[in-house]
Amino acid sequence: MPADSGSGSRRRPSDAGFVLDTRSLGRKPGSMKTLQRSMTVPDQIGLDLIGVPAGAEVNLDLTLQSVSEGVLVTGSVTAPIAGECSRCLESFTDEIVLQVTELFAYPDSVTEQTTEEDEIYRLVDDMIDLEPVVTDMVGLELPLQPLCEPDCPGLCAECGVRMAIAGSDHRHEILDPRWAGLAKFTAESPGTGGTAADLN
Ligand SMILES: [Zn+2]
Ligand SMILES: [Zn+2]
Repeated sequence: MPADSGSGSRRRPSDAGFVLDTRSLGRKPGSMKTLQRSMTVPDQIGLDLIGVPAGAEVNLDLTLQSVSEGVLVTGSVTAPIAGECSRCLESFTDEIVLQVTELFAYPDSVTEQTTEEDEIYRLVDDMIDLEPVVTDMVGLELPLQPLCEPDCPGLCAECGVRMAIAGSDHRHEILDPRWAGLAKFTAESPGTGGTAADLN
């Protein structure tokens, strides 16, 4: 994309939220800068059933390193998540930690010129926008079938009560008369064998 060189007064995006300013890093390969930041996400990231809710506080703990082709961003992004259990339908909260390793290519780098637009992230006006990276990673990290607990016992198939509340001995009598009759028969039928003494 050609640079818009005619508008010197164009405002740069500010170094805030998911937007990281790399100007103080410089382009000397090997130069590094660490960045810790807490920010509030304006919009929900993820799915309706589970995701990082709007207004959640996300923590960035990152290292920006200048390399020959761009800026390598490594570190972690920690975000609270809120979801609904796919077994018992209770809402729950948790936390995800995303391990980031992503290259943002310089606009004039070989990498930038030899890759497609959607193959690699790019620096725009010396700025890194981490939002698409986090959005993609959250999407991959979130479970398709979220659970409030790994061993959530779910709901009773008969009455729909939450098994975690009802207890493991929650059960229903079998009311089907055919089965009731069979149960009676089984109870009344004599044993199959006599005593060990009879066999001798
Ligand atoms: Zn559950
Ligand atoms: Zn039940």
